[in-house]
Amino acid sequence: MKKVMIIGGGIIGLTLANYLDKTKFDVTVIDSLIGQATSASAGIISPWLSKRRNKKWYQLAQDGAAFFPKLVRDFALDESIYAPCGTLVVRPEKALQELAELAENRRKEAPGIGEIDLLTGSQTKEVLPLLKEMPSLRITGGGRLDGQAYLAHLKANAQQQQVTFIEEKAEIVRTDNHWQIKTKDHFLETEILCLTAGPGLLDLLSPLGYQVDIRPQKGQLLSFATNLPTNSWPVAMLEGEGDLIPFSNGQILLGATHENDAGWDLTPTEAAQQQLMTGIGAFLEDPEALFAAPMTMRVGTRAYTSDFAPFFGEVPDETNLFAASGLGSSGLTTGPYIGYLLANRINEVHAQPTDFSCYTKPMTEYIKKRL
Ligand SMILES: Cc1cc2nc3c(=O)[nH]c(=O)nc-3n(C[C@H](O)[C@H](O)[C@H](O)COP(=O)(O)OP(=O)(O)OC[C@H]3O[C@@H](n4cnc5c(N)ncnc54)[C@H](O)[C@@H]3O)c2cc1C
Repeated sequence: MKKVMIIGGGIIGLTLANYLDKTKFDVTVIDSLIGQATSASAGIISPWLSKRRNKKWYQLAQDGAAFFPKLVRDFALDESIYAPCGTLVVRPEKALQELAELAENRRKEAPGIGEIDLLTGSQTKEVLPLLKEMPSLRITGGGRLDGQAYLAHLKANAQQQQVTFIEEKAEIVRTDNHWQIKTKDHFLETEILCLTAGPGLLDLLSPLGYQVDIRPQKGQLLSFATNLPTNSWPVAMLEGEGDLIPFSNGQILLGATHENDAGWDLTPTEAAQQQLMTGIGAFLEDPEALFAAPMTMRVGTRAYTSDFAPFFGEVPDETNLFAASGLGSSGLTTGPYIGYLLANRINEVHAQPTDFSCYTKPMTEYIKKRL
């Protein structure tokens, strides 16, 4: 049985670990749990109205969203983990008309968008009573994923399949036929190595002589524990940086910030709290009532590339070394599908390789040998 080691137990790493063929591979996941984006994330799965022009990214995001029904079946995800709760997009009327046209066009390729309705202010308030009366566009296919609950569920599932977990920071030590991995308490060897470490990919590959086009971005959000009947409420994508994401148990998330100059800093800040409360509060009927609920802050580190696009596949000029990173703000949407595609590639190691070029530029665009 061949060994596969995965460094990085976020959404890509754990989905990959679960889809690897355990009759062929002995799988270990090593994760430092530091700065993880998946656990800090907001949870919006609704890529169809994006105006980004990057076609490969959009194809990946569209196919990633379409993958969710399979993910739900394969891992028996209940509605506390993933729910197709629908999305409301709140914008001025003219912008909503344009978005409705875009949605109608995109639905031809992506039937998962579901129903598309322009709602009046009072209809908007009826489906999400926290909001002021404002017109919105509702798409019923949007969903919400609880990143923390997803990882806990997939970890338990993987453990039942004898996947080993090590909670430590890892370093790679190069050898000829095997990859050696060093952590504080372990020295491990593996035939196949997968790096799904978010922005941590930079530190993992630099000592091997690689330049990696990745930068960390800090994201903060607010989580309110309420007694509100949030179960059937949709996600609201508001103007600016603000989104409101109701989960099934009364929890309401407001977020998130995109801080490019904070590096790896994981400290929650008063400034972010104020920014989110002021920005999102402007859309709420009674912001003070929500802000009176017990609140915690979440902080995570996203990974970005220069062209804001993810990459994944085999690292150039290396044997049995795979990497995936750069998922940015949409990694809950694309991450499970990337994990699945990588698992298929590794499971069918002697078959025709799966072609990822419709989703991502060649990895040499992002990972280069230092001269
Ligand atoms: C505040 C916030 C809100 C977001 N909201 C959304 C959203 O609404 N919708 C959406 O689609 N996406 C969202 N995202 C983006 C999404 O969460 C990320 O793109 C995605 O989770 C990245 O997954 P990943 O598996 O690549 O990395 P991560 O989840 O960051 O996991 C990487 C793991 O690798 C580990 N690691 C790194 N280096 C090492 C090492 N040397 N040794 C061992 N372990 C290591 C880290 O500890 C971490 O656990 C949000 C992100 C943030 C921060």
